[in-house]
Amino acid sequence: MNTQKRETEIVFDKEFTQQEPIPQAGIKRALDILQSGRLHRYNTLGNEMAEASLLEKDFADYVGAKFCAGFASCGSSIYVALKSVGVMPGDQILCNAFTLAPVPGAIKNAEATPVFVEIDEDYLTDLDDLERKAEASGAKYFLLSHMRGHIVNMDRVLDICHRFNMTLIEDCAHTMGAKWGNQFTGTFGKVGCFSTQTYKHINSGEGGLLITDDEDVAAKAILYSGSYMLYEQHLARPSLDVFEKYKKAIPNLSLRMSNLVAALIRSQLPQLDNQCKRWNERYQLIEQELSNVPHIRVPRRDEREKYVGSSFQFTLTNTTAAKVEHFIESCAKRGVEIKWFGSREPKGFTSRFESWEYLGETDPLPKTAELLNFMCDFRVPLTFTLEDCKTLCLVIKQVTDDVISST
Ligand SMILES: *Cc1c(COP(=O)(O)O)cnc(C)c1O
Repeated sequence: MNTQKRETEIVFDKEFTQQEPIPQAGIKRALDILQSGRLHRYNTLGNEMAEASLLEKDFADYVGAKFCAGFASCGSSIYVALKSVGVMPGDQILCNAFTLAPVPGAIKNAEATPVFVEIDEDYLTDLDDLERKAEASGAKYFLLSHMRGHIVNMDRVLDICHRFNMTLIEDCAHTMGAKWGNQFTGTFGKVGCFSTQTYKHINSGEGGLLITDDEDVAAKAILYSGSYMLYEQHLARPSLDVFEKYKKAIPNLSLRMSNLVAALIRSQLPQLDNQCKRWNERYQLIEQELSNVPHIRVPRRDEREKYVGSSFQFTLTNTTAAKVEHFIESCAKRGVEIKWFGSREPKGFTSRFESWEYLGETDPLPKTAELLNFMCDFRVPLTFTLEDCKTLCLVIKQVTDDVISST
């Protein structure tokens, strides 16, 4: 279409991996903890409440859950969630096929067998396929990963789980602060797992938070996390008699969160809602910029989906995989780092279900495979201004015009 040479090629020069600094309050609190030397969550003096316990209470209050436990990562909390709801070796677990590597990793760790479910063109779990596979497999668990922050119709998910008597576990690594309707993600299932790894909505380097309203699941999760029989020190825990039932039956897996990590998270929690608004300003601007570009399809989002747009996905339409690859390379040359789930080889944070060979044979997923071939994905860190977002959209538009629209 546009064959005229442009005067200047715009190059985007900001880093897609650059997050904002930790708030001053968090840095100060972290320094206090470093000064005290009491970094381990059970290293408390007298009646002192450990930072990790305080965080668990704060986070449980924020989402409106009864219980919360800190973990070393979200992936480890998903593993513990599976164990705590009773997943046994060989059990089948339904899971959307478009997810991040730690999710199949957690299923493997629990020695369970994933049954992958297709996604649809809006990157959401295909609920018809979920229903079919729930019926065909007889699986008793559904691990729903709100991948890249896309939240599927939770009313229908609850209905399907109810009809097939399935326990729902939610992976909310990309939906901290997000809701379906008026309810926080993570509170629909029996367990919700959140990440505070650097690229999520709160940044403590590494970290995970598990929430539940089920006292047995909570006690088991705390014991698995590695509470050294010091679980009494937790604030967002069930009563001590619940632990009595499990304390000799549950191994200590040493997946605790440290006070230092908890301090970083706790300092960011009061700002979370405002940060989510800032992400959505950026998301909605990008959505507007890209939504009428030929060959670009942006996902539809249900109005009940109160998402947090910390990353953006779009699909290149009526084109070929070779052109998509050329598109990704051309964007990269101009500073726009787009991730591609179409690559045959797992790269960086991006891997497809076919790459998880350790799982053994899994059923083919033609719809998901095809969608991933044409899906583009990039992070939107809050260090990008709205102006930056416009610039990166301009690069994407120009590259689409040059590479995809050209014949
Ligand atoms: C990041 C992520 C995880 C794992 O989080 P970690 O804290 O890195 O273990 C799980 N699921 C999804 C969808 C993620 O994006």
